[in-house]
Amino acid sequence: MTHFIVLGAGIVGTSIAYRLAEAGNAVTIVERNHPGCGTSSTSFAWTNSNEKTPYDYYHINMLGMRAHRALGNEFGVRPWYHGGGAVEWRSDAVEAAELSERMERLNDWSYPAEWISRDELHRLEPALADGASGDARIAYFPDEGWVDPTVYIEFFLRRARELGAVLRRETVTGIVLRGTRVTGIRTQSGMTIEGDVVVNCTGRWANDLGQDASLSFPLAPTVGLLVVTRPAASGVRRVIRTSGVNFRPDGAGRIMLQSEHDEAKFTLESPQEEVRPVADAVIARAARLYPDLLGASAEGMRLALRAIPGDGVSAVGPLPGIDGYYAAVTHSGVTLAPWLGRVVAAELAGGAPEKALENFRPSRFF
Ligand SMILES: Cc1cc2nc3c(=O)[nH]c(=O)nc-3n(C[C@H](O)[C@H](O)[C@H](O)COP(=O)(O)OP(=O)(O)OC[C@H]3O[C@@H](n4cnc5c(N)ncnc54)[C@H](O)[C@@H]3O)c2cc1C
Repeated sequence: MTHFIVLGAGIVGTSIAYRLAEAGNAVTIVERNHPGCGTSSTSFAWTNSNEKTPYDYYHINMLGMRAHRALGNEFGVRPWYHGGGAVEWRSDAVEAAELSERMERLNDWSYPAEWISRDELHRLEPALADGASGDARIAYFPDEGWVDPTVYIEFFLRRARELGAVLRRETVTGIVLRGTRVTGIRTQSGMTIEGDVVVNCTGRWANDLGQDASLSFPLAPTVGLLVVTRPAASGVRRVIRTSGVNFRPDGAGRIMLQSEHDEAKFTLESPQEEVRPVADAVIARAARLYPDLLGASAEGMRLALRAIPGDGVSAVGPLPGIDGYYAAVTHSGVTLAPWLGRVVAAELAGGAPEKALENFRPSRFF
């Protein structure tokens, strides 16, 4: 029986760990804090392949969306998944032109994307203020949705454990490299855990494991800001994307909002009092569209770093010249996780290399 050591209990690590355990392997998951504490807990978690280029990156995100749907058939339930699609309109002229161009590209690529009327928009979103979309054209993406990553992670971790996987609460401080073979990991508590293959799913911390330089590749993280309101009966039903603010329900009446334009102002160290006025302004922008949101305040303001490999797309695969080591580091990990879980586990079990991943190998950095 092959022993896999999966580093990181985020959405990517738990997806891969479950599929490895399902295939009959011994699996140890090593996580320094509670499962799901990393980037997976600070994600807009919109499942989509909407703005993804080039085509091969778009394609794997499509495979991720399909894999999310397939989980419903496989398990009968998927309480983490919220469908209903996404709607988007742009009042800003430059952004509106970009949306039109994107719609053409997405139609060429057969992505479910259609223009809808204002009446249709208001049927989808009855709480939206009259005239909220102005004269803008309205795009609807019926196959998109959003995920509660914590619920997903808990489900897959529990299933993996039922199949014998073990979660170790340890901080990884070293990767044991003997010649060109990785044989295990070292932890802060002084422990060495030996295994046949180490699978690095630590996301933005993927280079911070005290490893040899030959086991690292460049990352280019960017700061993200997410605002979560206190519970408010606002009537927001799905992912809404506009000039100035994107938002969606976040469970129990909370709304999660994101303003990509504002994110560049901050670092992870930015004090909450600096973030608060921006959070208030972001909520106010959404409240102009959904009047029942007026008066809602921010319960949480989360600054996070996106786990982005150096050239912006996923890095999934072995590292050149090294045996017993595999990395799975990516942005869009919420969309990609269920697909990555399957294909990475199949590759690690000795199956043929997944063709759709051929342009996403970490070897491109070496
Ligand atoms: C603001 C923002 C918005 C986003 N929006 C979307 C979106 O709309 N759609 C989408 O698909 N994706 C989105 N993403 C990206 C997505 O959230 C990530 O790609 C995904 O969560 C990464 O999951 P992961 O499992 O790879 O990493 P993580 O969830 O970060 O898991 C890594 C784990 O490794 C653990 N770890 C780290 N170092 C060590 C160590 N030394 N020892 C032991 N354990 C360790 C951490 O504690 C953590 O639990 C967004 C990200 C951000 C920041």
